[in-house]
Amino acid sequence: MQLYLNGFRGGDPDIKVAAPTWREFGSNAALPEKVDVLIAGTGPAGLCLAAQLAQFPEIKTMIVESSPRNIEKGKADGINTRTMEMFQAFGFAEDVKRESYWVNQTAFWMPDASNPAHIKRIGRVQDVSDDSSEMPHILINQARLHQLFLDVMHNAPSRLTPDYNWSVEAVDVDPDASDHPVTVTLKDTGVNWGETKVVRANYVVGCDGARSNVRKAIGGELHGDAAHQAWGVMDILANTDFPDVRQKCLIASQSEGNILILPREGGYLFRMYVELDKLNPDERVSTRNFTADHLIEAANRIMSPYSVDVKEVVWWSIYEIGHRLTDSFDDVPAGEDRNPRVFTAGDACHTHSPKAGQGMNVSMQDTFNLGWKLVHVLTNRADARLLRSYSAERWVEAKRLIDTDHEWARIMSAPAGQSKLDSSNEPRFVQAFKENLEFTGGLAVKYEPSALTALPTYQALATGQEIGRRFHSAPVVRLADAKQMQLGHVAEADARWRIYAFAGQDQKPLFDLAEWLENDPSSPVVKHTPRDKDCDAMIDVRAIFQQTFEQLSYENMPTLLKPHKGKFGLQDHEKIFCVDHKGLGDIFEMRGIDRTAGCMIVVRPDQYIANVLPLTAREDLSAFFASVLRDVRSGGV
Ligand code: FAD
Repeated sequence: MQLYLNGFRGGDPDIKVAAPTWREFGSNAALPEKVDVLIAGTGPAGLCLAAQLAQFPEIKTMIVESSPRNIEKGKADGINTRTMEMFQAFGFAEDVKRESYWVNQTAFWMPDASNPAHIKRIGRVQDVSDDSSEMPHILINQARLHQLFLDVMHNAPSRLTPDYNWSVEAVDVDPDASDHPVTVTLKDTGVNWGETKVVRANYVVGCDGARSNVRKAIGGELHGDAAHQAWGVMDILANTDFPDVRQKCLIASQSEGNILILPREGGYLFRMYVELDKLNPDERVSTRNFTADHLIEAANRIMSPYSVDVKEVVWWSIYEIGHRLTDSFDDVPAGEDRNPRVFTAGDACHTHSPKAGQGMNVSMQDTFNLGWKLVHVLTNRADARLLRSYSAERWVEAKRLIDTDHEWARIMSAPAGQSKLDSSNEPRFVQAFKENLEFTGGLAVKYEPSALTALPTYQALATGQEIGRRFHSAPVVRLADAKQMQLGHVAEADARWRIYAFAGQDQKPLFDLAEWLENDPSSPVVKHTPRDKDCDAMIDVRAIFQQTFEQLSYENMPTLLKPHKGKFGLQDHEKIFCVDHKGLGDIFEMRGIDRTAGCMIVVRPDQYIANVLPLTAREDLSAFFASVLRDVRSGGV
């Protein structure tokens, strides 16, 4: 954490200096008439977007929520490793690690062949494979996550706070207007119930859940298989003689159904998903009148010979949801050539069964993708065409998630001997789970080649950092103070690009690159950084050397890597790294970096790898950035 760049300030370092206010927040405050971005809904998708935009007080952001306050319990609870990596960029991954349950092992239970009425453990799998991520897979109350995002928003320069008790009722886009073309009608759901208010926005993002009004307003429809499958979910405090209650468990009984056990934060609480009866095609789950007692009874039948003695049902729900997807995540009809003004994210445009534990994760990843793009457009760093890439990139991922979930279901329900996984001695349950680990960790996301993710021309220079996938962190040591750390943790949710320059055996190409990046008029650092900003305000360059820290001389390092910044021109000492010398691993080895030639890895603000280039590929680097960012020095695009 870097502090005091513009002068010493005591107190909580997470609370940033407030920017001049443009409006009051609170239940009695007047709503603004015009905003840059209006976000509908304070679920994970909406809050993840608001927390990013809140860092930019020059962007007028408003987030409305039809409920009166944050939720207190229930809903989703699984956070995969990829989302934890993203939380690191928001600054609260350590809080989550401290408070949450870590999923280390997943256990599998099936009917005991010698007594099929009883279940028996058939295997265990390490839940997060070694070095797939530096982060754990965790389980935590969704409401707590909301609060962490709310804190980030409130502590940001804009002090952004949700406007509760306002529901988005209608969204109209004037395609001919360029200034605040979206008219949003809000309905008061609080003390003045039913009163309406109109707010005009440049962009609207519907993060308003599966019944999204924003989606309906832009003509979006969720297609796919309706649920017809009800799941009972309960968070309980209970005693049990079931030995694996503090491990994630998938339990299949002979004839009573299936259960998923998810231990939760704090050591005592756990969640049970109980698969209930299949519903008839035209039947809604509400007609079945399920109660928490039904769930407890079903759980005891499925887990025989073990039993669960429930002391408190903290939260329970019947959760009926299918795999559904809209055709597009923005308001531009297929074939029309214009930039989008309205977007949907999260459950508003794709829903999933809780089995794979992805719903909340994918929702946040949607808006992590959209957030930096909105920042780029609204702060004039990039043309509004950039916003077209949101739907293009995220729709493909949502579709892939749904297809993978279907494939999993197909494997599980195939008759014995008819699945490709039946040839091994290991039950197909366990094999399919292992095969899917990268996917359930959120690590299989790969954006296809586009203006934002280059073709893999030079991929061989960094075989473990695949273009289109997230930058895979590894241990390093910071040269200036010999601190052991994760390289990926230098990335913050601040809409900046990063270039990680890995030095080859000969260090000269890296030194030459740094000199060019700092001074040459054709360098992207020069071209895309306004004159009144620090040199790393748009593109943050870091260097990594193959030597250990005592073999390098800090005093000889290029000035770009020791820049003077802020109002005092203080020197930044945190841009140069070397390999870990204390046994955690060699980043060059771990990530397949070419030791002879070195390379540059260009990483997008959402932590995905945009390009891998030789250290000498200056024209390629300039051309890549020129296709995304404006040339702010010459005034061109
Ligand atoms: P949501 O979390 O649904 O947030 C949408 C927000 O928008 C809500 O706060 C809502 O009040 C607000 N809103 C709705 N309409 C409007 C409007 N017109 N104007 C303004 N605000 C509006 N996932 C699991 O994996 N496991 C579970 O057990 C599980 N249980 C769930 C139980 C329930 C009752 C629900 C609703 C969802 C559950 N989910 C579960 C799904 C999971 O919570 C979602 O995938 C995740 O929260 C999606 O995040 P989101 O931000 O897209 O939408």
